[in-house]
Amino acid sequence: MDNLKDYYLGIGIDEKVYDFCATIEKKLKSRFDEIDKVAEQNQIRVIKALQDAKFAEEHLNGTTGYGYNDSGRETIEQVYANLFHTEDALVRQQITCGTHALTIALSGNLRPGDEILSPVGKVYDTLEGVIGVRESKGSLKEFGITYKQVDLLPDGSFDYDNIRKAINKNTRLIEIQRSKGYDVRPTLSVEQIGELIKFCKEIKPDVICMVDNCYGEFVETIEPSFVGADMVVGSLIKNPGGGLAPIGGYICGTKECIENCAYRLSSPGLGKEVGASLGITRNIAQGLFLAPTVTASALKGAIFAANIYEKLGFKTVPNATEDRFDIIQAVEFGKPEFIQAFCEGIQAAAPVDSFVTPIPWDMPGYDSQVIMAAGTFISGASIELSADAPMKEPYAVYFQGGLTYQHAKFGIMMSLQKIVEKGLIVW
Ligand SMILES: *Cc1c(COP(=O)(O)O)cnc(C)c1O
Repeated sequence: MDNLKDYYLGIGIDEKVYDFCATIEKKLKSRFDEIDKVAEQNQIRVIKALQDAKFAEEHLNGTTGYGYNDSGRETIEQVYANLFHTEDALVRQQITCGTHALTIALSGNLRPGDEILSPVGKVYDTLEGVIGVRESKGSLKEFGITYKQVDLLPDGSFDYDNIRKAINKNTRLIEIQRSKGYDVRPTLSVEQIGELIKFCKEIKPDVICMVDNCYGEFVETIEPSFVGADMVVGSLIKNPGGGLAPIGGYICGTKECIENCAYRLSSPGLGKEVGASLGITRNIAQGLFLAPTVTASALKGAIFAANIYEKLGFKTVPNATEDRFDIIQAVEFGKPEFIQAFCEGIQAAAPVDSFVTPIPWDMPGYDSQVIMAAGTFISGASIELSADAPMKEPYAVYFQGGLTYQHAKFGIMMSLQKIVEKGLIVW
């Protein structure tokens, strides 16, 4: 018996579960090598962005109060602009989450009478409230901003004919969501996003193309701003925060777009000049430094899981072999007991709150109960190993993250262990 196996047996994994997972893992070596190559390129890209901005020890100190002349904040924003190849960036802890970052990007750049077009189908759940697709106080709809949507074709490609028809004199902003999020459509590659932006700009050159980049950062070696996006938006408690940023969001884009965002985030006239960093620039910078390898770990975990559960006969999205463009993995179990067991396993493998049992609850904004497993250092951080599932057909669990591959692997082994313990799979 090898020594490593003893460690797993000692922490509650059965020999059969261990052996099954170990056999699967052996076949993933070349896949993992590819991911490491992407991480290596991205690591160099991050270091270069820091060096080109002359990031220095003095920038690790924070400011208080108004935060005037916060050189750390200004420099980290330059780092993000360098990294994303954009004219400017807004990287702030005052941006409370991804939805908030997207809200700032939209409301900062749209005016009454303007129209948003989503050419990739339904927007992320929380954005429906922001835009006013779902009736919501303070939505953009209340400010006279309208919304149109063109769904992807059944094969997942762009419906160019209807996109052309949907673009009109009021279309001011194209919203492109890179990750499928918790939807069934495929995630878009940066290359596909580039083609879509080119098409839209040919029809209307001055339209603003904004990409919701959540869960996509560092999965590839290029970002949507390399292929024409005017604004790229995301959350620091996902990929680019590397697990160390305790809060925050980013918007990278053209000088004009970022200026508009800054006036919305703080106040007209104040813009980027205010916003104390309170000493968290260190976490944002160090998290960014770790983000390429953290994202790689999460991707390896997702591929490991897809291979395990596909081998056991379940539908996985993405499947075991296809290319990845975000860190989310879905497994369709078809039965609620599997979801419960899976989430218990993820929780039991967590570094924080490992002793609690996740139970389904009535989460605001959802039409069914939702179960969540997350034992994270940063509350709600989905770059850390976490899983959630709406308790309804097709009983699919979505999971993501893993600050280290070793942890993601253990969590997935534990999920299978719980499924086996409950007698849901008989070997
Ligand atoms: C996470 C996410 C968001 C924003 O979510 P927050 O929970 O507000 O950070 C928006 N779009 C997509 C695709 C996401 O994955």
